[in-house]
Amino acid sequence: MARLYIVPTPIGNLEDITLRALRILKEVDLILAEDTRTTAKLLQHYGIGKPMQSHHLHNEHKTVAFISEKIASGLNVALVSDAGTPGISDPGFLLVRECLRAGLDVECLPGPTAFVPALVNSGLPCDTFVFAGFLPQKKGRQTKLKQYAAETRTMVFYESPFRLVKALEEFALHFGPARKVSVSRELTKLYEENFRGTVEEAVAHFSAKTVKGEIVIVVEGKADDDE
Ligand code: SAM
Repeated sequence: MARLYIVPTPIGNLEDITLRALRILKEVDLILAEDTRTTAKLLQHYGIGKPMQSHHLHNEHKTVAFISEKIASGLNVALVSDAGTPGISDPGFLLVRECLRAGLDVECLPGPTAFVPALVNSGLPCDTFVFAGFLPQKKGRQTKLKQYAAETRTMVFYESPFRLVKALEEFALHFGPARKVSVSRELTKLYEENFRGTVEEAVAHFSAKTVKGEIVIVVEGKADDDE
C-alpha cells in the first residue's frame, strides 16, 4: 500500500541523513518540499532526481486533500522540510492528520531535528522537558512567558537571531537572571557555538556582538521549592 513518508533532512551538515532516508527519497514517486530550491541542492548532492512539488505554510491548507488523494491512488509520497523533521516547527501536521483521516499509512523516519542535540548538550535535565518551539512574536507572547515562569521542566525554544537578546531579557524578567540557560547556535555547522551560563550572562555575551545563524535556547525549569 502506498503511503506518506515524513523524511528528516540535515540541519546543517549534509552527512546527517540516514541511509533509509536516502533510499526512501530515491524510491518515492513524489517529493513534497518546503522550498524546492533548498531540497534540490540536497538531492543533487546525493544524486537523486525526483519530481518535486512545493508544500509550505502558505499552500498546505489548499493541497492536503489533493495529496492524500494521490497517495490513495497508489503514489508513494515523501514530505521534507528545509531542515530537520517536518512537523517540528515546520509544515507537516496538517498533511499527516489528513492522511490518517483518509485511512492512509503514514511513516515518520527518525532523523535530524535541532532541539535534540541542543537539549542533550545543554547539560540541563533532559529526562523530561517541554518543547516550546517559537514563542508568538507579538500577541500572546507575554501570556506564554508567564505560563512558562511556573514550568519546572527544562524548556526548549526556537528563536531567530534578531530576537535572541530580547528573548533572553524577557527570560531574565520572567524566570529570573540567575536561571541557567544554554544557547546553541548553528548546530552541526562550521561556526557552531554552545553558550552555557545564567540568563544574565547570556544577555551580556550575546549583546556584545551581532548574532547570526540559527538558534535553540534551552532553559532550566523552575526549582520545585522556588516560590
Ligand atoms: N524542522 C526543524 C527541526 O526539526 O528542528 C525546525 C525548523 S524551524 C522553521 C527553524 C528553527 O529551527 C530555527 O529558527 C532554529 O531555531 C532551529 N534550527 C534549525 N537548524 C538549526 C541549527 N543548525 N542550529 C540551531 N538551531 C537550528
